[in-house]
Amino acid sequence: MAASHDYPDLHCLVGGKALSGGGRKTEEVINPANGEVLGELPHSTAEDREQALHNAEKGFAEWRKTAPEKRASVLTGAAKLLRERADAIATMLVMEQGKTRAEAQGEVQYSAMLFDFYAGECKRIYGRTMVRPEGKRSEVRYVPVGPVAAFAPWNFPAINVARKVGGPIAAGCSVIVKPSEETPAAGLAVVQCLLDAGCPGDVCQVVFGVPHEVSEQLLSSSIIRKLSFTGSTEVGKQLTKLAADDLKRTTMELGGHAPILIFADADVDKALDTMAPGAFRNAGQVCVSPTRFVVEDSIFDRFRDGFVERVEKLVVGNGLEDGTRMGPMANERGRAGIEKKIANAKDKGATVATGGERIGNQGFFHAPTVLVDTPLDADMMTEEPFGPVALLNRYAGEDAMIAEANRLPYGLAAYAWTSDPARRDRLAAEVEAGMLAINGGNVSFVDAPFGGVKWSGHGSEDGHEGVMACMVTKAVHEG
Ligand code: NAD
Repeated sequence: MAASHDYPDLHCLVGGKALSGGGRKTEEVINPANGEVLGELPHSTAEDREQALHNAEKGFAEWRKTAPEKRASVLTGAAKLLRERADAIATMLVMEQGKTRAEAQGEVQYSAMLFDFYAGECKRIYGRTMVRPEGKRSEVRYVPVGPVAAFAPWNFPAINVARKVGGPIAAGCSVIVKPSEETPAAGLAVVQCLLDAGCPGDVCQVVFGVPHEVSEQLLSSSIIRKLSFTGSTEVGKQLTKLAADDLKRTTMELGGHAPILIFADADVDKALDTMAPGAFRNAGQVCVSPTRFVVEDSIFDRFRDGFVERVEKLVVGNGLEDGTRMGPMANERGRAGIEKKIANAKDKGATVATGGERIGNQGFFHAPTVLVDTPLDADMMTEEPFGPVALLNRYAGEDAMIAEANRLPYGLAAYAWTSDPARRDRLAAEVEAGMLAINGGNVSFVDAPFGGVKWSGHGSEDGHEGVMACMVTKAVHEG
């Protein structure tokens, strides 16, 4: 078990300097497994943030001119350091966020893979030359958009920060990132790897504070040319409006309510083995979490029984303990929100097949919960649960199932299980989502775009698209 000294001292990182003390306000960071205070997080002052903006402008002016090989070497160097420091980073991540150690290790490894991938992409930013008569010339260039302001949430403290800074650094931008104040250490550790690998301190900076104060200040500055946000749709809409005042570019990775279509011709056991544990990864606090199970009527009872059987085997506990398969929720407001939504679903007529209540008397634990036959007018069927709840409902046939998949304004991830190749094509065409997994449970790969449509946001992180999202086009015509 980790001790409190496994949790590091906290600070902001402005111009490569660690800022703390000096009368700065602080905020407690809480361990969600036991409610203990892990550390005191210093907030940046308005002057710190002005300094960060000034540095970002300066950093961009230099970084945009660097050779791709230089940017690639910083990213591969940071990936190497992340792997070397993986155990320590995973431990602090579990302490501040609650997920299991295996999931935290996976997060750090994914962050390293992403930096490695982006390092390669630095050298694959091509332009285009158009056909013109002799003596004339037209070309399209891609140039970095400028300093980026990025805001990352608490559910993936390492990956979210790696995604926010990796694309800009590969593209030649500078970036100021605000990780979540609730989970600051892992994100700081990711950025420290970049700085230790040679990234200039003005190119990648970290500030903490009262979220809306930080975003309002950074987004009101004309130095910032792009907003990148991951979090709730509600906050995403507010920030998009702020960015619009200065017509800044945006990448918005917002909430979801992922449907999982289980057709009668599916490999049901494989679907159960993949999706039942998958729905409770990170206690369901995942934007692509499998949430609405849209199950074909004829196999519903078999699917429900197999699902409940697997969920009841999940061991809930402190993420640092061996054998734990699901940790606590990351904060009390998330747990209170889930309790309210479960009560509302029950009032509307849903059946609790397993779980349904909080567990233990310390930390923010909630039992993995399966609700069956939840009416569509229950809050849970329209609002993202963002907690350890799976909703199992029965439907008659493909048309009804696709209609249910597309019923909500969200469109982040969707999943489908079927053995019919023609149906796979129809689903790929008709399901409204930024990502679709067919006969599998993973929608996140470093070389593929990660992002949503409709209220789940716009733009992509990861993949070639993640770098191009930090660039703008410039057409140059000669003659
Ligand atoms: P929230 O919207 O208050 O906060 C989400 C994140 O955004 C936090 O890290 C917070 O620090 C940051 N944030 C909030 N207001 C901000 C502002 N004005 N400027 C800049 N950053 C700001 O929600 P929450 O209570 O932390 O989480 C609950 C909901 O958030 C969930 O229901 C889910 O929809 C959403 N969420 C989504 C993701 C995702 O990966 N898409 C991640 C975390 C939370």
